[in-house]
Amino acid sequence: MSQYPNMLKSLDLGHTTLKNRVIMGSMHTNLEETKNWNRVAEFYAERARGGVALMVTGGIAPNHEGGVFPGAAGLYTDEDIANHKVVTDRVHDAGGKIAMQILHAGRYAYGPECVSASPVKSPISPFPPKELDEAGIEKQIADFATSAVNAKKAGYDGVEIMGSEGYFINQFLVTHVNKRTDGWGGSYENRMRLPVEIMKRVRAAVGADFIIIYRLSMIDLIPNGSTFEEVVQLAQAVEAAGADIINTGIGWHEARIPTIATSVPRAGFAWVTKKLMGKVSIPLITSNRINTPEVAEDVIASGCADMVSMARPFLADPHFVAKAEAGRAAEIAPCIACNQACLDHTFQGKVSSCLVNPRACYETEILLEPVSTPKKVGIVGAGPAGMSTAIAAAERGHDVTVFDRADQVGGQLNMAKQIPGKEEFWGFVEWFETMAKKHGVKLELGREVGAPDLAGFDEVIIATGVVPRDPQIPGQDMKHVVDYIDVLRGKAELGKRVAVIGAGGIGFDVCEYLTQAGESPTLNLEEWKEEWGVGDPSETRGGLADAGPKPEAPAREVVLLQRKATRHGKTLGKTTGWIHRATLKMKGVEMIGGVNYERIDERGLHVSFGEARENPTLVECDNVVLCAGQVSERSLADALEGTGTTVHVIGGADVASELDAKRAIDQGTRLAAAL
Ligand code: FAD
Ligand code: NAP
Ligand code: SF4
Repeated sequence: MSQYPNMLKSLDLGHTTLKNRVIMGSMHTNLEETKNWNRVAEFYAERARGGVALMVTGGIAPNHEGGVFPGAAGLYTDEDIANHKVVTDRVHDAGGKIAMQILHAGRYAYGPECVSASPVKSPISPFPPKELDEAGIEKQIADFATSAVNAKKAGYDGVEIMGSEGYFINQFLVTHVNKRTDGWGGSYENRMRLPVEIMKRVRAAVGADFIIIYRLSMIDLIPNGSTFEEVVQLAQAVEAAGADIINTGIGWHEARIPTIATSVPRAGFAWVTKKLMGKVSIPLITSNRINTPEVAEDVIASGCADMVSMARPFLADPHFVAKAEAGRAAEIAPCIACNQACLDHTFQGKVSSCLVNPRACYETEILLEPVSTPKKVGIVGAGPAGMSTAIAAAERGHDVTVFDRADQVGGQLNMAKQIPGKEEFWGFVEWFETMAKKHGVKLELGREVGAPDLAGFDEVIIATGVVPRDPQIPGQDMKHVVDYIDVLRGKAELGKRVAVIGAGGIGFDVCEYLTQAGESPTLNLEEWKEEWGVGDPSETRGGLADAGPKPEAPAREVVLLQRKATRHGKTLGKTTGWIHRATLKMKGVEMIGGVNYERIDERGLHVSFGEARENPTLVECDNVVLCAGQVSERSLADALEGTGTTVHVIGGADVASELDAKRAIDQGTRLAAAL
């Protein structure tokens, strides 16, 4: 009997059957915009082969004004239909099913042509929308129906109508944006006319044998959002209008509460979907921070939903379902919810990929083919660069040995996993161990390696990472000055007031570590909800707690300093930086910029400001923690130069500036593909 009987149970929709309860949720990867339809097809076909029941594409605009940005993918012409057919045919040949998401961005459309219920500009776009008149609304509804018909012609098994996350349809639902006084505004009946009309018209246009999913915002997380009564009313109305399935939407894009970041507890919003269970008779899908088969199974078994939608986990591992089915769940590459290669790329206009799996969206470019002549490969460094190279090279058939002076694999990720809100790194490091074992990588841990140890390998890979930069501040050798390594390895006893030098990724993480008193809220849903001010949408509109965010008192006073005069945290992730800034603000961390570090003494850290070194100031503290960046550890690479050994230097050992695990893993995997 399977470990995941609920997750793997089929679902009869009447006109078709889904082979299990797992959906790949819609992700805007920017792949469609490449117009390389073979590449798009391979991306989806790989996931179809991996056993997921149904995939939903990235958002496809129903018309030009509704595109997320000018030129966003749409399905308008016969040529578009033929292009999309390349994708659907490939998915069907692979035994999968695929639905197209129809996404009208409304006032979130990043262009001057955007339209909405009322001319109320969104806080996340510079473009005020044009208010639609009656004929304009009719055109939008007709365009949804036409888009669905075109999707059917293109061979899709269904469509998802995007009615959440603050997009067009959502904008009509709430008085926050909808200020109309005609038949499309005012009462809730009027405001919900748009989704109901769209649903009716789409169903009428495509007929009965076509899947229609409606994505419904169940907790808006914005002021004046929907009440849960309204959510139920809408859900029942879209069911009556012809929806087959309702998918859960959590939070508008402009919400100031994290909904999918790694610090959100796993399945942290399944309780919202559960509130709707039994109120409609069609299946409900829940989503957000579900990333293991255990969590997915538990969510369904405990009655939170009929199905689960996972999106990013299918970037990390296209074979999620097949591996779970085969009892190989430990081999599933875990989505750590970092957003670094997926959403951050999307928002930078780049094609998405995955930190954990650089082949995501690059299936036709990075090929890990079996080798005919295996080589002896020696790798120094079991951090993400070294381990990703080792696993991919061994998978191809090479004979791989990895050395590390540490007694565990993972390199710096073993420090990252100590940070509250970054607990997902534990599973990632374990996955490295599992995959190394599976592919026969020989691990020589606890072994410092010098150049002579590497004789006899056909290829030598130096992945020795980085060492902390020496900021050369007078007084830094005093006992109360420590670096981030001492802190995160638990080797430093710190007092009640701490100054942190350096506000990069590590400086921010260290501040979170130093201010967190007890258990990480990421591991305690109720505490996390209280910290961010998430309330019950039955009691408070949009699910914003009346009391607002109520963070736990910080464990100590922390001051975070940098030399730059710019805003702290500018280099943090595009979609997650605001969460780190908000967290430190809630913990009362004082941010000081534009400083010169003059000296450290027993009273604390002395700084001055500006080129003229004015305004000398003492930052009183018990300890100073150095997080002043990193430099490459290249001593071994240098020692090997001129020895005739074929050496590849990767990860932090190659370039320390702007290093992260994404770059280290991408470089390692690409090297392994070329060996
Ligand atoms: P490392 O991880 O530094 O690994 C190098 C390894 O080489 C080490 O295990 C070391 O012991 C070994 N080694 C060195 N010399 C020798 C020798 N002579 N013999 C044997 N072994 C040797 N990145 C992200 O992308 N996202 C994050 O959220 C993130 N958070 C972080 C949080 C913290 C607190 C820290 C410290 C880092 C974080 N990073 C994050 C950065 C990320 O961990 C690094 O970019 C990444 O680990 C670099 O990989 P690497 O393999 O090049 O080097
Ligand atoms: P970093 O991001 O480069 O930040 C280094 C900090 O040190 C900067 O704030 C810099 O600010 C300061 N600094 C630089 N030189 C200094 C000097 N000589 N004296 C004093 N201060 C100095 O590096 P990091 O924080 O060490 O992080 C290392 C890498 O890990 C980064 O590239 C980062 O991307 C990655 N990481 C990523 C995450 C993530 O969540 N994605 C988290 C942690 C780490 P000033 O020059 O203004 O003083
Ligand atoms: Fe998940 Fe990070 Fe990969 Fe995105 S980049 S899919 S969040 S692991």
